[in-house]
Amino acid sequence: MPNLPEINTQFLLDFLSKLLNTPSPTGLAEPAIALTEQTLKPFPALRLSRTRKGALLATWTGERDDHPRAVTAHADTLGGMVKEIKSNGRLKLSQIGGYTWNTIEGEGCTVFNRFGRSLRGSILLTKASSHVFGAEVGEMKRNADSLEVRLDARTSSEKETLDLGVGIGDFIAFDPRVEINAGFVRSRHLDDKACVAALVTAVKALSDAGLKPTRTTTLLISNYEEVGHGAAAGIPANVEELLVVDMAAVGEGQNSDEFHVSLCVKDSGGPYHQGMSDRLRTLAEKHAILYKVDIYPHYGSDGEAFWAAGGDVAVALIGPGVDASHSYERTHTEALLATTKWVVAYLLEE
Ligand SMILES: [Zn+2]
Repeated sequence: MPNLPEINTQFLLDFLSKLLNTPSPTGLAEPAIALTEQTLKPFPALRLSRTRKGALLATWTGERDDHPRAVTAHADTLGGMVKEIKSNGRLKLSQIGGYTWNTIEGEGCTVFNRFGRSLRGSILLTKASSHVFGAEVGEMKRNADSLEVRLDARTSSEKETLDLGVGIGDFIAFDPRVEINAGFVRSRHLDDKACVAALVTAVKALSDAGLKPTRTTTLLISNYEEVGHGAAAGIPANVEELLVVDMAAVGEGQNSDEFHVSLCVKDSGGPYHQGMSDRLRTLAEKHAILYKVDIYPHYGSDGEAFWAAGGDVAVALIGPGVDASHSYERTHTEALLATTKWVVAYLLEE
């Protein structure tokens, strides 16, 4: 196999930063899907389309037509919905995706109403002021009842908030707080925008080098992963193999870290496909890609969503190590590059 084409790090970081700054809680992921679509448009070899569910498909005809493949990453993120407008004019949240309440306390947010307008606000404890509530601030359990959205608008009643055009079911996006420092990328929602950026950058790397994938490959940018059924639909029926690209879980007892791409061999949904995982390892070793092997204890992926939906394919999962996942996440450029390289190597695998 020839050397891998060069990866454009600046392109990766620029697109990732733009994507992170594009709000896309599950259910309202369209802005991030549309941005990804726009970014893939300049590559004429890709045939772009949408599923009825709103996911993005990009099909790239390969050198060979046998054994077609798919690669997926998700553009939707954690978020919230307005559950209730309280008598004090503030909002109760309903969670979108799995996270603990304490991870959003103090966060800025945007509420998107059904008229296409947005309002800024922040998520706070109902008893937030130390000067008023003293020790209780630290002792209260963080949950749906103790956290609320304070809108940056003059309202202190349910009616005033309704008059602002806010309604039950409006989507709430948390501020991504993107920072790139000393190679680290820090932001909410690196899960899984880091991997969407890796896929798009892999497309660019091949395309700029005048290459195409060995086998016809469909990229699925899914939009309902965080609630469990993202890739359940959308993958063409003739596809034989699915590579899922999603963040690796970093923390005590984990083998993953922020400087490597991980191969997940098992998560909450059980083991991934051994043969495909082994081939990926061989490929990584051949190209000196910095990878780790790991098991994620509380994790599900779009690969399992497709399996559960009846997908008859081999599935493997790779992704960059992300610290503090579903909280204030962080990874490093080295992990992003290693992930991109692995995707490139997979696309070019003989
Ligand atoms: Zn994810």
